[in-house]
Amino acid sequence: MNIKEQIEELRRTLKYHSDRYYNDDSPEIEDYEYDMMMRELKALEEAHPEYDSPDSPTKRVGGKADNSFESVAHTVRMESLQDAFSKEEIFDFDKRVCDAVSGVHYVVEPKIDGLSVSLEYVNGEFFRGSTRGDGDTGEDVSGNLRVIRNIPLKLTRALPYIEVRGEVYMPKKSFNRVVDRQLINGEKPFKNPRNAAAGSLRQKDSVVTASRGLDIFVFNVQQVEGAELTSHKQSLDFLKELGFNTIPFYTRVDSIEEAFSCVEKIGEQRGELEFDIDGAVIKVDDFDDREQLGSTSKFPKWAVAFKYPPEEKQTELVDIEMAVGRTGVLTPTAVLNPVHLAGTTVSRATLHNQDFINEKGVNIGDIVTVRKAGDIIPEVLCVNEKRSNGNFLFPSVCPSCGEPVYREEGEAAIRCINPECPAQLLRNLIHFCSRDAMDIEGLGPSILETFVDNGFIEKTSDIYHLDENEIAKLEGFKETSANNIITSVENSKQNDLGKLLFALGIRHIGAKAAKLLADKFHNIDNIMNASVEDILTIDGYGAIMAEAVVDFFSGDSAKQLIDELRAVGVNMESESIVKDNRFEGMTFVLTGTLEHYKRSEASAIIESMGGKTSSNVSKKTSYVLSGEASGSKLDKANALGIPVISEAEFEEMIKDE
Ligand code: NAD
Repeated sequence: MNIKEQIEELRRTLKYHSDRYYNDDSPEIEDYEYDMMMRELKALEEAHPEYDSPDSPTKRVGGKADNSFESVAHTVRMESLQDAFSKEEIFDFDKRVCDAVSGVHYVVEPKIDGLSVSLEYVNGEFFRGSTRGDGDTGEDVSGNLRVIRNIPLKLTRALPYIEVRGEVYMPKKSFNRVVDRQLINGEKPFKNPRNAAAGSLRQKDSVVTASRGLDIFVFNVQQVEGAELTSHKQSLDFLKELGFNTIPFYTRVDSIEEAFSCVEKIGEQRGELEFDIDGAVIKVDDFDDREQLGSTSKFPKWAVAFKYPPEEKQTELVDIEMAVGRTGVLTPTAVLNPVHLAGTTVSRATLHNQDFINEKGVNIGDIVTVRKAGDIIPEVLCVNEKRSNGNFLFPSVCPSCGEPVYREEGEAAIRCINPECPAQLLRNLIHFCSRDAMDIEGLGPSILETFVDNGFIEKTSDIYHLDENEIAKLEGFKETSANNIITSVENSKQNDLGKLLFALGIRHIGAKAAKLLADKFHNIDNIMNASVEDILTIDGYGAIMAEAVVDFFSGDSAKQLIDELRAVGVNMESESIVKDNRFEGMTFVLTGTLEHYKRSEASAIIESMGGKTSSNVSKKTSYVLSGEASGSKLDKANALGIPVISEAEFEEMIKDE
């Protein structure tokens, strides 16, 4: 490959990974690998300016706003940071700074591994919040930011205007809780807290965002009216006074030597912190000095991020444990001789699946390298010393029930399909009782485990036969708590069919898909009699989902479960009744503010008349309903020639016939 091809190949690869990271929140490589590739490209571009391109990832701030939310133009650019991986590079940075300004002071802060947001306040009240996007244009995620507890909705001073910048992150505790839940529900878990934070902030439904336990650290004043600020340290103190959760441990120092020892100190604490950091940032303190230093197209020249390299250690792989998930998937975990890594003791690491094991050539007894980078879940990187014969092989029978396991064509997962498998029973129960499913308060994982261990529950429908007196006899249960459980079990019988369908744990059918199914077919019998073709008429359903529904209900155990639930009085009907079908087959996109309806109300009306709403304008859009202050969606509708209707016209369309 010649230099030009090498540069193009690197740009292509970096662009691919940047899309996975920023747009899908699902990176496929470690940040460190990405950063090293970026360095390689930078070096090649510097050596060969003839191949320079303004589109190169070395010149662009990652991420772009998609059409899911209204776009926000940042008046003050949200820049990225130049990075450094060694002490020498930090001292080189200092040299560049000292060549331009004299008597410099630095402020050192941890670099929070989350996603950057801008928060704007007018007269001291929260006005708007947006993501960084590409630095110039982000997405308006105000609704989701409002539900983050540590974002003040009112400041302690009614400044005419202030825009601040902060990092929204997911504390490690919340991350563990969210991932546990995803695993229970058979969903793909987030890879790390950073992606979890990004995915949670860009939710359509703020209730989901609120349930994810996000937090924020604010670290910059972007612009302000009504206050004079001359240095970074002063502005951080000021932000604290205004009521913001300010970046912790910020320290002002007089020299780069002191700055670097702060960086090292933060690095030592890394594993013990409640949140993930991927480095420390050294910033010039004085604003006049910053002005003097200026910025490149991507980052300010007055700051540098020291990135802690991922820690790797060798250890012995002493065992491989096999767990059976709710959907029957067997997941292998390596049990390691404990090693201290990135501030925590690591004794287990994920091995994903048989393909991963084969690719790494791992078996019990081997000496392996484990890595813990930004990710919380450590990973086996490679085998250093092969002490065993061959690769570890998955068992041919389920470690829990002893029935044969299967691998479906085209799937990496190996699964146990025995619905009576005890390992799946508990996980099925946890899912069945969870909030988005039957929402049975009081029946959480540990209580369900107790009930299973005591023989109260042997199959799902036993939940509806729990005996209050028997429960009250158990240690730690009193009459009232037993009574509360029975009451919430009773209440769950009235749930809408959509919740029951989700609770059944049909593969590929999440809460939303379950609701669509209930809305379309109204009762369980219609669903059980539906063919794949019938189900495929639901907008948003593909063949895999439709087949999963039909497969599920064709099994005897599913039919039996439905009979048992019906017998105890669990509701099998959907409440949502389509009033009329005047909007059947039509898709509406809502933009701007409506005078008489909240967006959710307008959407509900459209849906009750058989229509659909979408957040993106495309050729398939039937109408764009445009309110006050409509933005880019209106422009797109006009460009595509999609009919745009006003609120008055909409009201005319929904009038009783
Ligand atoms: P960056 O993460 O290296 O640094 C800039 C960001 O740091 C800012 O946006 C800011 O929000 C944040 N930050 C946190 N604490 C801060 C503080 N105290 N002061 C100032 N800023 C602070 O740069 P980037 O442009 O956001 O993204 C590049 C990063 O994303 C790299 O680390 C890269 O590894 C990673 N990435 C990874 C992949 C992958 O596939 N693994 C792909 C693309 C990008």
